[in-house]
Amino acid sequence: MSFMDYLGFDRSAGLYASNSQEDFLNHNWQDKNSVIRIEQLEAVLRDTAPASIVSEIRDGLKKVGMSIRLNPYMMDLIDWRNAETDPIRRQFLPMLSELEPDHPCMSVDSLEERNTSPAPNLVHRYPDKVLFLVTSVCPVYCQYCTRSYAVGQDTEKVRKDNVTSANGWAAALEYIRSNPTIEDVVVSGGDIARLKPANIKALGHALLDIEHVRRIRFATKSVSVLPMKFLTDEAWFSAIVEVAQRGRQMFKSVFVHTHFNHPREVTPLVEKAMRRLFSEGIHVRNQAVLLRGVNDDPETLIELTKKLGRVNIQPYYVYSCDMVLGTEHFRVRVPEMQRLEREVRGATAGFNTPLFIVDAPGGGGKRDVHSYEYRDDKYGISGYRSPSVDPNRMFYHFDPLRELEAGARAEWRAPGGREAILQRLGILRPESVAAE
Ligand code: SF4
Repeated sequence: MSFMDYLGFDRSAGLYASNSQEDFLNHNWQDKNSVIRIEQLEAVLRDTAPASIVSEIRDGLKKVGMSIRLNPYMMDLIDWRNAETDPIRRQFLPMLSELEPDHPCMSVDSLEERNTSPAPNLVHRYPDKVLFLVTSVCPVYCQYCTRSYAVGQDTEKVRKDNVTSANGWAAALEYIRSNPTIEDVVVSGGDIARLKPANIKALGHALLDIEHVRRIRFATKSVSVLPMKFLTDEAWFSAIVEVAQRGRQMFKSVFVHTHFNHPREVTPLVEKAMRRLFSEGIHVRNQAVLLRGVNDDPETLIELTKKLGRVNIQPYYVYSCDMVLGTEHFRVRVPEMQRLEREVRGATAGFNTPLFIVDAPGGGGKRDVHSYEYRDDKYGISGYRSPSVDPNRMFYHFDPLRELEAGARAEWRAPGGREAILQRLGILRPESVAAE
């Protein structure tokens, strides 16, 4: 097979054309040759992109909460001739000129995961579900990451929390064992692509051994950004298959959750990885994030939905971009998200149509974008109730400032403006707003 057959684009025009096909299609080679420092990016792009692009990224990185990590496969998916507007570049490599000042209600942990952590590495918000954070590293680093308080390297803006290694999982497992209401465990981080096969097996079997745990979800973006992981890392792939097979025998589900945002990411190599997963009976769901300049138009979202369906990935969610520091330029206002949902619904079968979700700041959890019970158009505020989390509390989401009329925008940005607006509206308890 040629590179065109694997990648869906002609790699002879790519950045790593002098490397062999065998290397390029190997997960280890991809990891080892990932760009993690600006000097490496500069070296790789020397003959391809103007120096001004790297300089913009260097300055952008000083303002955001996420470090960079991008492997050759993803570097080659970027159209460097149109780097400023390229939807893949935009997700991973921030350019100073595209960044916008943070909304005053943004924070480094907008979902307040750290406030609902009963044991190290565990987030317990919904009665029957926990989030088990097993690592703080990923094959790539997304600039809009919800968990920028812990994932990746420290940046000038954010010092990262520690997520403990496999040695520190015992307390979290004990908490799950002693809480029979917990049926559902999301194993995430970070990304399970970075776990050793032995740790995937140990954790997977330990969870399956807990009688009340009925569902395990392994979260990995590698289906989209490192599909060769499923083709050349036999021990790792076999570990997932082993846990999934045992789960099936026990009448428990072990699924993979992944993360595609743009149709260009669904390459022939992804199809090859999915054929392997599908043949082992492993179900894969996608959780996309709605990102301005990446996928915030109906055509792109419909194409993404259909391409995922064709490789047997269920398009499960489209999330609003969380209100995390450094992400204002990615955010889309709630009414626009509702419009996009209406455009996408009906384009394909209902079971393959994603739910458009606001993960309510402050820890309200996932709410249907249409389900707000309070709306203030002038200040761009939507209030969501979440009875299973807290029946007495409203959780508020704030539209990006660029979308408001000039007067309201100036009020938000004035010193003390946030407190003045919230007080005047009389709708917010201080603890209802995620801010630091
Ligand atoms: S793969 Fe997920 S956890 Fe990792 S940086 Fe991207 S969004 Fe964050």
